[in-house]
Amino acid sequence: MSTVLFWFRNDLRLHDQPALRAALTSGATHLLPVVCLPAPDERTPWGFARVGAHRRAFTAAALRSLQVQMSALGNPPLLICQAPPAIALPQLAQAVGATTVVCEDIAAPYEQAEVAALRAAGLQVRTVWHSSLLPPARMPWAVDQLPGVFTSFRQKVERAGITPATPLPAPTQLLPPPDVPASVLQAVGAEQGAASIQLPAPPQGSDARSSFPYGTPGCDGSEAAALAHLAQYLARKLPHSYKDTRNGLTGLDYSSKFSPWLATGALSPRQIYADLKAFERDHGANDGTYWLWFELLWRDYFRLLHLQYGAALYRARGLSELPPAPHNPRGFDRWCRGDTGQPLVDAAMRELAATGYLSNRLRQVVASYLIYDLRGDWRAGAAWFESQLVDYDVYSNQANWLYIAGRGTDPRGGRRFNPIKQAQDHDADGSYRRLWGTA
Ligand code: FAD
Repeated sequence: MSTVLFWFRNDLRLHDQPALRAALTSGATHLLPVVCLPAPDERTPWGFARVGAHRRAFTAAALRSLQVQMSALGNPPLLICQAPPAIALPQLAQAVGATTVVCEDIAAPYEQAEVAALRAAGLQVRTVWHSSLLPPARMPWAVDQLPGVFTSFRQKVERAGITPATPLPAPTQLLPPPDVPASVLQAVGAEQGAASIQLPAPPQGSDARSSFPYGTPGCDGSEAAALAHLAQYLARKLPHSYKDTRNGLTGLDYSSKFSPWLATGALSPRQIYADLKAFERDHGANDGTYWLWFELLWRDYFRLLHLQYGAALYRARGLSELPPAPHNPRGFDRWCRGDTGQPLVDAAMRELAATGYLSNRLRQVVASYLIYDLRGDWRAGAAWFESQLVDYDVYSNQANWLYIAGRGTDPRGGRRFNPIKQAQDHDADGSYRRLWGTA
């Protein structure tokens, strides 16, 4: 008997799961699937929880459904550990006689350090890259030669005709689980069996004003909800109007809302692409369908940027030579609470805190306000988003903040948004500000 550990990270799904497939075909006879939850009291250097209540609740729904799906395959109870991977995985491996862990490759410093700690503990860790639409290995340049600006990246990808791989089907069978002694389960704070999971519920049900009401069945964190959401988005032909509506501020349909499930991994980007292409064949391609591909390419670009620059993206100066911006604790506190006195910014920050979601347009406006108007440290803002967003994605969050701060790859050297003009353009009748009590 030989056991392989499969460590679910930001890939909480069974469809299109190359890392899980690698574990299943590794030659092992048994599989122990594991998730490690961040400690509830883990804090950022800025003094608040690294993972806030919304993200915890959304991820918990993904875990519950994964647990049920795996049980339906007649197999391993997903082990949900309340301990960091460096503590939980070596103990579990030792208890079941495993030497190998298979998991998703994540090219960000915190996540790389998690893997390094496992290796230092003597485990063999096989990481599999599968979070991007396009495989980095198929790019027509070396990893450190990524085109310096997005447009050039996109044009080169399109000219070279690089397309995503066909998504893998979900496995119909897993490997049997090994026995894990109860004392070890207790030591790693693990819970086994769907019925026993103590995972958070949505904080206060759902805020009716939310553009992504994750407390409702259509928007819960499960893989089934993710696939159903994608199917209904296409069935209602919303891609055709995406380019015209994507700068909206309220409601479920102005943008795709794929991001929360992409972030936990409940939805594969290659599945989106495959279904979008089928949609284009059946109903025609237009600017809207193209623009969804365009935005998903941004997501890939920020992943590739991490492969190229890694920890440099996390320096106060980012990729620039700009001096670090000093932290502005009072301004930052007012910004987080939605109490700056700027009505559009305050409405947006209240929406973020109340719902865990915010439109792309308003993410840009509030990030710009913290950086250029309050003159705060962009890294505190990025950390607040990390804490609050249900769709927090390490690559997209870090790189978008850098971009607006002029410390990333923006050829224009940063983006400053005038909130008064933004309100005139996107909330001319004031309904958004009234919704959040700032007008
Ligand atoms: P749509 O407009 O429907 O776009 C479709 C998909 O394209 C999205 O789901 C997303 O995967 C991708 N996409 C769209 N815009 C971007 C972008 N600017 N950068 C990268 N990918 C993009 N997105 C996250 O997923 N997680 C984050 O933590 C995150 N933090 C951000 C922080 C700031 C300061 C800013 C300005 C943007 C951030 N974004 C982040 C990008 C963007 O705001 C969200 O992806 C988008 O609002 C999600 O809603 P949607 O799925 O309806 O997007």
